[in-house]
Amino acid sequence: MKLWPLFSFCVIILFGCSSPKKPSIEDLNTPFELKENYSATYEESIEYYKKLQDFFPKNISIEEAGESDAGKPIYKVVLAEKLTSPKTKKDGSDKLVMLINNAIHAGEPCGVDASMMLARDILMDDEKRKLLEEITLVIIPIYNVGGALRRNSTTRANQNGPAEYGFRGNAQNLDLNRDFIKMDSKNARTFVRLFSDWMPDIFVDTHTSNGADYQYTLTLLPTFHEKLPKPLDDFLRLKMLPSLYKQVDEAGWLVCPYVMSYGTPDKGILGFYDSPRYSSGYASLFNCLSFTTEAHMLKPFADRVNSTYTFLDELLKFSFENKSEIKKAKAESEELLANQQEFVLDWELDFSRFDSIPFKGYEAKYKTSEITGKQRLYYDREAPFEKKIAYFNYYSPTVKVTKPKAYIIPQGLRRVVNRMKDNNVQFSQLKKDSLIDVELYEVLSFETAKKPYEGHIPHSKVEVKSSKVKKQFYAGDYLVLTNQSNVRYILETLDPQAKDAFFVWNFFDSFMQRKEYFSGYVFEDYAAQFLRENPAFQKEFEEKKDADTSFANSASKQLMFIYENSPLAEGTNNVYPIGRILN
Ligand SMILES: [Zn+2]
Repeated sequence: MKLWPLFSFCVIILFGCSSPKKPSIEDLNTPFELKENYSATYEESIEYYKKLQDFFPKNISIEEAGESDAGKPIYKVVLAEKLTSPKTKKDGSDKLVMLINNAIHAGEPCGVDASMMLARDILMDDEKRKLLEEITLVIIPIYNVGGALRRNSTTRANQNGPAEYGFRGNAQNLDLNRDFIKMDSKNARTFVRLFSDWMPDIFVDTHTSNGADYQYTLTLLPTFHEKLPKPLDDFLRLKMLPSLYKQVDEAGWLVCPYVMSYGTPDKGILGFYDSPRYSSGYASLFNCLSFTTEAHMLKPFADRVNSTYTFLDELLKFSFENKSEIKKAKAESEELLANQQEFVLDWELDFSRFDSIPFKGYEAKYKTSEITGKQRLYYDREAPFEKKIAYFNYYSPTVKVTKPKAYIIPQGLRRVVNRMKDNNVQFSQLKKDSLIDVELYEVLSFETAKKPYEGHIPHSKVEVKSSKVKKQFYAGDYLVLTNQSNVRYILETLDPQAKDAFFVWNFFDSFMQRKEYFSGYVFEDYAAQFLRENPAFQKEFEEKKDADTSFANSASKQLMFIYENSPLAEGTNNVYPIGRILN
C-alpha cells in the first residue's frame, strides 16, 4: 500500500477541514489605515481581499471578472451570506444585489480604501454581517486598472492627497466613465458582462469632485430621477434620498447633492443629467437605483475615505431595512415599463422648476490676481454661510418615440450586435431571406463635434424622417423584440435620436455618405429627358430655381437635385439601416 493517499487524508483532517481562526482587527488593517495619506495600489487591494478570503472563505470571494485594456485583470469581490449559492443573480436568490465600482477615475481612489474597510467590517462584526442576510454585495476593487498602474503624485492638480494615486485615462487613454454605451475598452466589456450577470438593484460609483469649495465633505449624484419609471422615481426622491442625506449627516459627515453650478454655488446648483455613457446613467437603464459619490477634493484624504465609507455603510443599512419596498418599487416599475408605449430619449434642464435647499458654503469673493492682474475668484473659508439656494433638479423631455414591436438589425452591423449580446439582449435570427415591412429613418440632419471626444467625433441634434417600406433582410439578420426587460437599453442605443445612441458614437457614419456618383456631362441628357417625362417634378424643379438663388446659380446643385429624385439615385444614402417593425 502506498503511504501518500493516507498521508494526504491526514493533512486534510488536520488542516483542510478546520475553519480558519478568526483574525484580530490588527491583522486586517488596510494599507490606508497603516500609512498616513496612503491609498492601496492595485496589487495591494487584490492581496488584501485574498487575505479576507483566507480568513472568511464562506462569506467572501475574489475572482477575476475579466480583462482590462492594461492586460491585467479586473477583479470582482463577492460578499454573501453563503457563497455557494450566489454566483450570479440568475441563481434565483431573492436577495438585493448592491454593486460598488471603484477607481473608474484612478486618481480619485477614496472608494478603493473605503470598500476594503467596509468588506472587512462586515466580515468581522457580527451585527454588520447580518446585512448579508438580505443583500449580496459585489465590489470592483479597481476598475481602471491601467489608470491605477500609472501611479503619480501630480496629475490631480488641485487634490488634497493621497500621496500617490492613479490617472484618469485608462490604458487607451479613455475616460471609462464615458464608455458604457460605445464600449471601446475591454474594461467596459468586463463591466457590462458583470452587470448583466448580477443585475444589481443598487449601484454606486465612487469619485472625488473637482469644482467649487464649500463645507461639505461628500456630495452625492443620484441618477437623474425622472428617467426612472415612476415607482422608482418616487421611492428614490421621496424616501431614499432624504433618508440617506439624514443618515450620513447623523453619522457625522456633511453631505449634499453634487454641486454643479454656473459660477458659484450660491447662485443655485443644477441636477446632473447622467446619460447612459456614464456608469450611473447606464445602470439606471435597467431600473437600478444608482449613485455617484463625489468626495470633496480639498478635504483631507482620510475624511474623503471615511465619508465615502459612511455613505456605503448607510446605503447598505437603508437597503437592508427597506428591502421589500425596493423590491416592490422595482417590480411595479418593470410592469409599467412592459406596458409603456412612449419613451423619452433626450432631456433638457427645466429652469422654470427648482427646489429650495439649505446649503452650507463659503462666501465666494474676488481679489486681484498676482498672475494676471485681473479679478480672481476665491472661497473665503473664514466666511462660512448657510442659506437656501435653488436646486434645479427637473428636466423636460425633448425627444419622444413610440416603441416599435421589434427592431431588425442587419448582421453586418457587428459592433451593434456584439454590444447587444454583452448586455444580454435577447435575439432571434431570420431563418430565411425575407422582404419585410419596416419603418426606416432617413437622417435629415445632425451636428458633429469639431474635435475628437473619447476616441470619437460624436454627433448630436439628430433629425430624422420616417417612412414605411419593404426592405430585404437575409437569413441570419437579428430580430430584437422590445417586450424584454432591458427595453430601455434597446431603445436608447438603437434609436439614433437618443442622447447616447450608437449613432451618436459614429457606428453608422458609413451610411451617412454617398457611395455612387455620376458625371454631369453624361447625366445632362438623361436629366433633360427625365424632366420632360415628369412634368410634375419639372414644375417642382422650376419653382425651386425661382425660390432659391444659390440653387439657380449652381449647375451641380440642380443636377444633384434631379439625380436624387430620379430612379438612378442609390436610395440608401443617409438611410439608417436598422428597421423598426411596427406590427
Ligand atoms: Zn471622477
